[in-house]
Amino acid sequence: MRFSGFRVFKEALTGHHGWKPLWRNPAPQPGYDYVIVGGGGHGLATAYYLATTFRQARIAVLERGWLGQGNIGRNTTIIRSNYLLPGNEPFYEFSMKLWEGLEQAFNFNAMVSQRGILNLIHSDGQRDAYRRRGNAMLLAGADAELLDRDAVRAMYPWLNFDNARFPIKGGLLQRRAGTARHDGVAWGYARGADAAGVDLIQNCEVTGFRIENGKIRGLETSRGYIGAKTVGVAVAGMSGKVMALAGMRLPIESHVLQAFVSEGLKPVLDGVITFGAGHFYVSQSDKGGLVFGGDIDGYNSYAQRGNLPVIEDVAEGGMALMPAIGRARLLRAWGGIMDMSMDGSPIIDRTPVEGLFLNAGWCYGGFKATPASGYCFAHLLATGGPHETATAYRLDRFARGAVIDEKGMGAQPNLH
Ligand SMILES: Cc1cc2nc3c(=O)[nH]c(=O)nc-3n(C[C@H](O)[C@H](O)[C@H](O)COP(=O)(O)OP(=O)(O)OC[C@H]3O[C@@H](n4cnc5c(N)ncnc54)[C@H](O)[C@@H]3O)c2cc1C
Repeated sequence: MRFSGFRVFKEALTGHHGWKPLWRNPAPQPGYDYVIVGGGGHGLATAYYLATTFRQARIAVLERGWLGQGNIGRNTTIIRSNYLLPGNEPFYEFSMKLWEGLEQAFNFNAMVSQRGILNLIHSDGQRDAYRRRGNAMLLAGADAELLDRDAVRAMYPWLNFDNARFPIKGGLLQRRAGTARHDGVAWGYARGADAAGVDLIQNCEVTGFRIENGKIRGLETSRGYIGAKTVGVAVAGMSGKVMALAGMRLPIESHVLQAFVSEGLKPVLDGVITFGAGHFYVSQSDKGGLVFGGDIDGYNSYAQRGNLPVIEDVAEGGMALMPAIGRARLLRAWGGIMDMSMDGSPIIDRTPVEGLFLNAGWCYGGFKATPASGYCFAHLLATGGPHETATAYRLDRFARGAVIDEKGMGAQPNLH
């Protein structure tokens, strides 16, 4: 079924009896050519591009719960391509371009909204760093504008410009950045993959890998053994645990990241603002809630909830930047499990086991990467080689010392 304005109009006139489920609910087959482990954004996007762009068949996605139960449905929905390093910026700009055509490509409303992102500047050193980053973005074909204090004040007059510790001196603006509805992204990719013949198998937990003579043969799952010629693992916060089943130890730690939403308010914030110096960021949802967050909880955890000290820290960041937020009531708080890599950059690579591939290390920035991650992982699985924008995301870079340390702050997850 194709979605369109005409379809909505027709269904409204005929009692809405014509809508169909967005995807089938098939039983697992004995074997597939490609099995993707993890029905989050990256797993679903990989299956979608494998089946559509790369014209592969006999593909399944195995999800231990329901599609979208993980970080894809828990993030703060920010999409952007404002990176500095050559290993990162072309990849994230490729993702931004895919976002721009995504809804038309998979015929689903993912509420992609290019409302702009503003990174605030509080010191001369930060201005130099953002000027450099903006130039790197322009060189990679992205958009970037350096704003002075007056230009920021014209956009958001209610910010605390004269905070003694963090006076606002300007900002780096990417107008093409913004937000997208995270569930809509998961549902759109799932529907598109299903329509292209992919089996989306829910409540199917991978519990082991069958590896013979260094080659993948299939997967043990809670729904029985499933044979596979090629396996792509995209399980985000569970990467360490799942790859341990294949005998691998990853350069990844799992940490909780929390997010918050206020009660619905009248429109006050039409873009996304980040306050890197105090680590707080905020946007306003279409329902009116202020959606905000800050640092990861600084300990290893597989719980999808966080603790009070970080809530206090995030609230302090919010109060320093926009004191009016103190008048808003908090509606909800939640957490997701981050696969924090040691340099803050991802991994899209083959593993020492033939036919077994890994997509991981997205930290707290993997939502914006969803389209490019899926595309590049599908490219790797289908062709055996990396996509041109993802050549740096090698697993062995940690052993070689070729890290992609975007913030240049060293090998500790809480610094990225
Ligand atoms: C609070 C919060 C805010 C965030 N904000 C942003 C943001 O604004 N912008 C941004 O770019 N990124 C953001 N992120 C990060 C982003 O959400 C993640 O990096 C990204 O979603 C991870 O990829 P995924 O969607 O595939 O993960 P997930 O949705 O977590 O998918 C992994 C799936 O694997 C499944 N799985 C695990 N183990 C198994 C198993 N053994 N067998 C089968 N299936 C298994 C899980 O159930 C899960 O559904 C945020 C994350 C959080 C938690």
